[in-house]
Amino acid sequence: MENRELVVIGAGAAGMLAALSAAEEGVSVLLLEKMEKAGRKIRITGKGRCNITNTKNWDEFSKHIYPKNSFFKSAFYNLSNSKTITLFEEIGLETIIERGDRVYPKSGQAKDVVDSLVNRLNALGVEVRYNARVTDIKSIDGSVTELVWEENGTRKSVSPKAVIVATGGLSYPTTGSDGDGYKFAGNLGHNIVPCFPSLTALMPKGYDSSLESLVLKNVTLKLYIGKDAVQEEFGDIEFTNNGLEGPLGLRVSRKAVKALLNGEKVFITIDLKPALSEVQLINRINREFDANGKIRITDLLPRLLPKQLIEPFMKQNKLLSGKILSSQLPGEIYPIIDSLKNWKLEIESFTSFERCVITAGGVSINDIVSKNMSSRIIKNLYFAGEVIDIDGDTGGYNLQIAFSTGYLAGKSASHFILKSNNTSSE
Ligand SMILES: Cc1cc2nc3c(=O)[nH]c(=O)nc-3n(C[C@H](O)[C@H](O)[C@H](O)COP(=O)(O)OP(=O)(O)OC[C@H]3O[C@@H](n4cnc5c(N)ncnc54)[C@H](O)[C@@H]3O)c2cc1C
Repeated sequence: MENRELVVIGAGAAGMLAALSAAEEGVSVLLLEKMEKAGRKIRITGKGRCNITNTKNWDEFSKHIYPKNSFFKSAFYNLSNSKTITLFEEIGLETIIERGDRVYPKSGQAKDVVDSLVNRLNALGVEVRYNARVTDIKSIDGSVTELVWEENGTRKSVSPKAVIVATGGLSYPTTGSDGDGYKFAGNLGHNIVPCFPSLTALMPKGYDSSLESLVLKNVTLKLYIGKDAVQEEFGDIEFTNNGLEGPLGLRVSRKAVKALLNGEKVFITIDLKPALSEVQLINRINREFDANGKIRITDLLPRLLPKQLIEPFMKQNKLLSGKILSSQLPGEIYPIIDSLKNWKLEIESFTSFERCVITAGGVSINDIVSKNMSSRIIKNLYFAGEVIDIDGDTGGYNLQIAFSTGYLAGKSASHFILKSNNTSSE
């Protein structure tokens, strides 16, 4: 059996920050990673550019954290977004702030984020083992006593003074996060809030694949659960082979997926002419009537909508197809205005964990002490990152959750170890 003071499970964003902050306090740290290298998920974040964090102040930042942002407050104040930027600059990663207060590495390379962290861990003497999958955490009388892992086919174990579980969630399991942390936490008596994919593509009923690759910029999207409008967002939508994505699609996906899983009806409406009020749109259409006071709908729509949208829009509004509008019948315009201002799509499914950005649900925040990330059930056990039932919107919020909770867990676990060392040497 090997001997280490602290074992961190998972070399992702949370695990690396945990190992870093603990090693800075002088405890010996073993970081176990089941993949062949560190930070596989970080490498694909932000489309390969890694949106490290967001510079908003707590009041604004916290509006993007779910299900209970107060749980995250202590971790955020221990390692805030501005301290995170400073930390990265100190370990050699220059950053820049872009649109929407999003922070990226100046190099535009997500891998540089991982390299800067791994270099710092090496400099601090953290032992990082790859291809090392933790299989069991054993406890006696409310304390972890042994941690077992497989390394290149060999069973190994250690009896650490504390353990940090930073195994991530279920999203993009090919990066290594496939739910082991929930099993460890569950076996040790923690409540696991049911997981579901969030920040994920939403598939409309009867989706017309000719919409793929269309991007609608600066539109308003409303999400309806049953008859109730529950969320309204403004920005860009992308139509992909998975349905609706882009910032708007992802932003409403948390509520949409939850409702679909509850068996509720989910709709979205998109305002296809957000720059024009209804009255302005009526005036705009009125200007299109020819000398005879007539206009064919198939002639009108190309002047109002992107080409790629016309056919799917017409298919969905069958009553409009082939219609000739007459300026003598002003009421005829209203159904068109309504369809343009409220293009309605029923959402019938969503992309699951294999390609969602984040896992909602996880180790219950009721079983974790927010001010130090320790378990309320096992006294020398800590949690950090996506494995916890806490998640955020797109915009750098999720990595900040991982960095802050990891940093706090590392500091707290090392203080616990140093205190117990002092007690035993007295
Ligand atoms: C495509 C994509 C893009 C994203 N872009 C952004 C972005 O730009 N900005 C942002 O803020 N967030 C982004 N996110 C979310 C962000 O990446 C995650 O929230 C964050 O990486 C979670 O960090 P973590 O350390 O908790 O988990 P992970 O990064 O998943 O790390 C967990 C680690 O634990 C290891 N592990 C698991 N089980 C074991 C075991 N039994 N033994 C040993 N090791 C184990 C895994 O291999 C993995 O390396 C993105 C996510 C995806 C999928």
